[in-house]
Amino acid sequence: MKQQDCLRRFLFEEHAIRGEWVCLHESWLAAKQHQTLVSPDVETQLGQALAAVVLLAATIKFKGAMIMQVQGSGELKALVAQATHDRKIRGLVRSEAAVKGANLQEMIGEAGRLVLTVESENSEPYQGIVGIEQSHLAGVLKTYFAQSEQLETRLWLFANQTHAAGLFIQELPGEQKADHDWERIEALANTVSATEMFSLDCEELLHRLFHEEKVRLYEPESVEFKCNCSQEKIANTLYSLGRAELEGILSERERVEVDCQFCGAQYRFDKVDVENLLTNPLPNSNPSSIRH
Ligand SMILES: [Zn+2]
Repeated sequence: MKQQDCLRRFLFEEHAIRGEWVCLHESWLAAKQHQTLVSPDVETQLGQALAAVVLLAATIKFKGAMIMQVQGSGELKALVAQATHDRKIRGLVRSEAAVKGANLQEMIGEAGRLVLTVESENSEPYQGIVGIEQSHLAGVLKTYFAQSEQLETRLWLFANQTHAAGLFIQELPGEQKADHDWERIEALANTVSATEMFSLDCEELLHRLFHEEKVRLYEPESVEFKCNCSQEKIANTLYSLGRAELEGILSERERVEVDCQFCGAQYRFDKVDVENLLTNPLPNSNPSSIRH
């Protein structure tokens, strides 16, 4: 059976270069289920963003979540993809009823930017920002790494209705390296096609691309769709609206109703619940709610 819904890390043993491969199927189908995708091209953007955020989250050691947000003034208003340290993914799309552009830059329009946030349990959130000045997400991320980490990094991202997949290579920080090694590995990786990414297992693909290289491949790590929304988190958000706003809503209807935009879960707060959350607010950051 085809290897999918997993991440594989690998290392070029004779060069200071690491890599990752991801192919999503069930997790991709589940993640997009609650989204309104107005065209196949918009769907592709969400799939690529989810594959990318799994690859990027695997490059750092942390407990928490990495969130990639793309925003602009175009017909595609926002794209959000999130992966936790244990590879739970979720994503959302906001757009006009029709999106004409064929690539990310055209869809996201003027003043587009990508914000990458790392929410760690043990430290303050870290945020990096880059302008959308390339047509595709993979190009935007190449610029991001050149600016923020100064490490040679390349991603290849692919998505269709059934699969979202990506390949990642990056030079290791602080190692002596010969420039031509990177260029050769990059040129070999650059021949990868969507068909290969969607149909081949990682071993087969690595053999096809890099058969003359010594590659160490690590064990598969499974990826699944799982939203980490909770009654507590929604209560925190409502608390931040303030008493006047909440009482205003309750003067017009019986309950405050909030639907999670990632997974469609419905949260309901009646007058008693609202009074309770206003008088007994939860701490703003609640580590226990990140873990499940
Ligand atoms: Zn949710």
